[in-house]
Amino acid sequence: GATVGILGGGQLGRMMALAGSAMGYRFIALDPASDGPSAQVGGSIEAAYDDREAARQLAEQCDVITYEFENVDAGVAAMLMEQSYVPQGSQLLYTTQHRLREKRAVEAAGAKVAPYAEIGSEQELREAVQRLGLPAVLKTATGGYDGKGQWVIRSEEEIPAAYAELAKAGTELVLEQFIRFSKELSVIAARGSHGEVRVFPPAENIHVDNILHLSIVPARVEPTVLAEAERLALRIVEGLGAVGLVAVELFLTEDGQLYVNELAPRPHNSGHYTMEACRTSQFEQHVRAVCGLPLGDTSLMSPVVMVNVLGQHLEPIIQRMAARDSEAERLGTAPKLHLYGKVEAKSGRKMGHVNVLAPNTDAALAWIEGTGIWQAENEA
Ligand code: ATP
Ligand code: MG
Ligand code: MG
Repeated sequence: GATVGILGGGQLGRMMALAGSAMGYRFIALDPASDGPSAQVGGSIEAAYDDREAARQLAEQCDVITYEFENVDAGVAAMLMEQSYVPQGSQLLYTTQHRLREKRAVEAAGAKVAPYAEIGSEQELREAVQRLGLPAVLKTATGGYDGKGQWVIRSEEEIPAAYAELAKAGTELVLEQFIRFSKELSVIAARGSHGEVRVFPPAENIHVDNILHLSIVPARVEPTVLAEAERLALRIVEGLGAVGLVAVELFLTEDGQLYVNELAPRPHNSGHYTMEACRTSQFEQHVRAVCGLPLGDTSLMSPVVMVNVLGQHLEPIIQRMAARDSEAERLGTAPKLHLYGKVEAKSGRKMGHVNVLAPNTDAALAWIEGTGIWQAENEA
């Protein structure tokens, strides 16, 4: 089989390599840490992401190169394209690593985003707040994740502090109108190198402290909303001419409108549920797409809720999984634990996740509630 290089060595790369190994591929990750989650599964080159010599080494050893995060240095990506095969190209990275470029691409594909403004100075921020109203969310255009690099501005008094804080990052800033969503959804679409497209069932996502906590599938929304969410994701992946996965994060409002929040050109945390619940996992699908295989069937085989296991949840979850679980039996659930092999269980750090397969999503949520790591407001 061919050798696939992955830029990045975190859990997404690890799960990509696990899925792809079963398909006969070999994997080498380029990662600054020597013992990261994916180095434990395939080979690895320990180097910074913008280390050109290391990237050249990777290109020499690999037939195909992909990435597990979007902040890959554009110059490195361009160099890799000359020396190896990078089916996703560099345009997709260029677009999705910058919120303004991404929003323009989403709009060009025919989907809505929250009204927004480009911010270059505190004065521009004041004017944009006048126009878009409060609350509004100020974000760095690049580099943010898990809500880092954001400030929800609720009153005009916060403007100077918000601007000063985010301007520190030294990137452009974006102000977005605050969308009073009733639910957050995400849809993962895949496009093969010959233009074939498939979409996974939309997930309903619940965040706690800006970190994904639960993904509930099927999402508890009207079938028309599900269909529209899938249609938008397909338009976006086609509009971008992407290869591989594109995750589309959406806000659903009370009156049924869908707004695109952001994109990710890679496997997504909210797609981990596919590992046991779909006929093809998001990781297998990504490997299929970048390796030129036909895309797999994305059908859902069982209702499922994915719960993230953060550092502070690790002990209780491991104990729960190690004991005979009569509650799981009573509820008819099958909780499947995935751990990423990270050594230090720091609070807030993503250590693993549990996919709780169940006869229905209420039973899965009941099991999760019973573990004591339930944090979201129980909205049911
Ligand atoms: P991720 O870890 O998903 O990459 P991120 O740091 O890139 O996160 P966003 O996805 O832009 O950040 O925002 C994080 C969360 O903040 C969203 O999931 C949503 O709950 C909330 N949020 C962001 N933008 C808005 C908005 N314009 N209106 C309302 N809520 C928002
Ligand atoms: Mg993001
Ligand atoms: Mg997000």
